[in-house]
Amino acid sequence: MTYRAPVADIAFALKHGTGFGPAMAQGLYGDLAEDVVDAVLAEAGRFASDVLAPLNAIGDRHGTPFRDGVVTTPPGWRQAYRDWAAAGWNGLAAPAQWGGQELPQAINAACLEMWNAACMAFGIGPVLTMAGVEALAHHGSDALKRIYLPKLVSGEWMGTMQLTEPQAGSDVGALRTKAERAPDGTYRITGQKIFITYGEHDFTDNIIHLVLARLPDGPPGTRGISLFLVPKFAVNPDGSLGARNDVRAHSVEHKLGIHGSPTCTMVYGDQGGATGFLIGEEHRGMACMFTMMNQARLAVGLQGVAIAERATQQALAFARERRQGRVSGASAETGSGSSPIIAHPDVKRMLLTMRALTRAARAICYATAVALDRAKLGANAATRQAAHERASLLTPAAKAFATDVGCEVASLGLQIHGGMGFVEETGAAQHYRDARIAPIYEGTNGIQAIDLVTRKLPLSGGATIKAYLDELRRTVETVNAANDPAFGWTGVRLGEAVDSLERATQWLLARPQQDAALAGATPYLRLFATAAGGALLAEEALAATRLPADAAADPAARIAIARFFAENIAVQAHGLERAVIEGADSVTGADAALAG
Ligand SMILES: Cc1cc2nc3c(=O)[nH]c(=O)nc-3n(C[C@H](O)[C@H](O)[C@H](O)COP(=O)(O)OP(=O)(O)OC[C@H]3O[C@@H](n4cnc5c(N)ncnc54)[C@H](O)[C@@H]3O)c2cc1C
Repeated sequence: MTYRAPVADIAFALKHGTGFGPAMAQGLYGDLAEDVVDAVLAEAGRFASDVLAPLNAIGDRHGTPFRDGVVTTPPGWRQAYRDWAAAGWNGLAAPAQWGGQELPQAINAACLEMWNAACMAFGIGPVLTMAGVEALAHHGSDALKRIYLPKLVSGEWMGTMQLTEPQAGSDVGALRTKAERAPDGTYRITGQKIFITYGEHDFTDNIIHLVLARLPDGPPGTRGISLFLVPKFAVNPDGSLGARNDVRAHSVEHKLGIHGSPTCTMVYGDQGGATGFLIGEEHRGMACMFTMMNQARLAVGLQGVAIAERATQQALAFARERRQGRVSGASAETGSGSSPIIAHPDVKRMLLTMRALTRAARAICYATAVALDRAKLGANAATRQAAHERASLLTPAAKAFATDVGCEVASLGLQIHGGMGFVEETGAAQHYRDARIAPIYEGTNGIQAIDLVTRKLPLSGGATIKAYLDELRRTVETVNAANDPAFGWTGVRLGEAVDSLERATQWLLARPQQDAALAGATPYLRLFATAAGGALLAEEALAATRLPADAAADPAARIAIARFFAENIAVQAHGLERAVIEGADSVTGADAALAG
């Protein structure tokens, strides 16, 4: 089964619960009209469903053959990329000054979800170009911006982001790629990068690599790293392409999933060094990288949402068709007399888990995007700073929770297919394989959890997380005040989840950087996202009850999902809290269990 972009549902999730609706009403986005938002989402969804989705299985089968330094992308992909870029999608949120449309990140996030759901291996390429645009626009010199930004924004050229080396993965500070100053003010880059997404391909005539490297006098660790722009082809003063730079793809990886995305080993300096141009200041490359990291991490989180949505659609369709057994009370009037498996409570539970987790992850990701918009567009420095901290707090949860959800939901989708999920022809297995990279790249989920606990909880002396807890509590109070029996135990269970989050937060804030805190980081992140996701789903349900009858609002369905989440998933919060507070010792003191 193919993917149909759930545009109405996505538009609803964006406008209700995430803060996008109030932001629009307050004028954060100027005169941006709701019908423009709807039209953009509808068109992005059409491209996803009609053009990209049919390419997904083709990419999985063909991969990206590599011969003599040249990568061939799967049949139809190059044209699809060019059509996608020609439609202006690459510059949706990019600065107008450089040819972009400067629409909100929140809208871009919704579109990224749809493109990645249609074809994740395709979607990851533009994510890196967009992140590169962000870094260059913030930190590049005027000359670099003039030469590179218009073509990166239009998508005529694509970008890459190059941190990883064999000995430097999570530990970026261990990188050894060298940069040496040349007399003309440029730099000579030598070394090797591994696992570089779209490091080589045939989509565009030029590829603009953003590469982290170390100058000879760079201090050790992350403080000695600088960021360089290294074009595949030099650019002449008239904008035409010049000589080939001294950088090449050495090989392409054979991977578990995202076969359509070429993952390359890159070699710099076969002929003395690739020409690189400094972005920002020497030794300050990590600061530049951090600019693009919030955005890139959110985008990878959206890949988790995307694959979960696609897997859910496919599992639902299968469960309506496949008949096995007979549920109690079913009549034998149809077919063999057996029931569609969707009628079995255990299958229903799996499907509800898929839908609830997907929507919770989507809501967290969209809320993060709105915070990024507020951080950029807020009326004054104080609101921009508060929004920046909110985005920083939410980003690790958006990345790690949503990508874990991608894997869990894809796994459930496969389970619902039974044996047909394990064979390749249904496509359920491809989602499962594709989903698996997202918890690994763009900072592993373990690193995200550590980031949340050690860097984000202490923001503003704990005031950022406290303000967020207060907001979650207000949602709980609103659910309780609604006094609507359809919500069942939603208010109570969400209230308990927020209590657990608060206790775990206080415990961690008292132990920054200690091993016990690091040991509890992953359950804490899950607890955080469980409380946040439950509250956001409740907000969506509450909004639906307030709206005039509207097919997308569907209050009964939204309340059912919020309630399912609260009563079946948020109840795990207590166990997660215990794992953070009491379980840490059993991790730090258990080396004996791993000996031998
Ligand atoms: C398909 C694919 C595409 C990629 N694309 C790119 C790209 O475009 N650009 C790029 O630069 N890189 C890219 N990467 C690299 C990716 O970002 C790294 O693989 C990732 O950051 C993890 O690094 P590593 O593989 O070295 O694992 P390691 O860092 O060795 O980690 C192994 C395990 O140890 C854990 N761990 C490591 N350090 C710590 C710590 N301090 N505390 C607790 N746990 C820790 C990790 O969480 C993980 O579970 C890509 C990788 C793949 C597979």
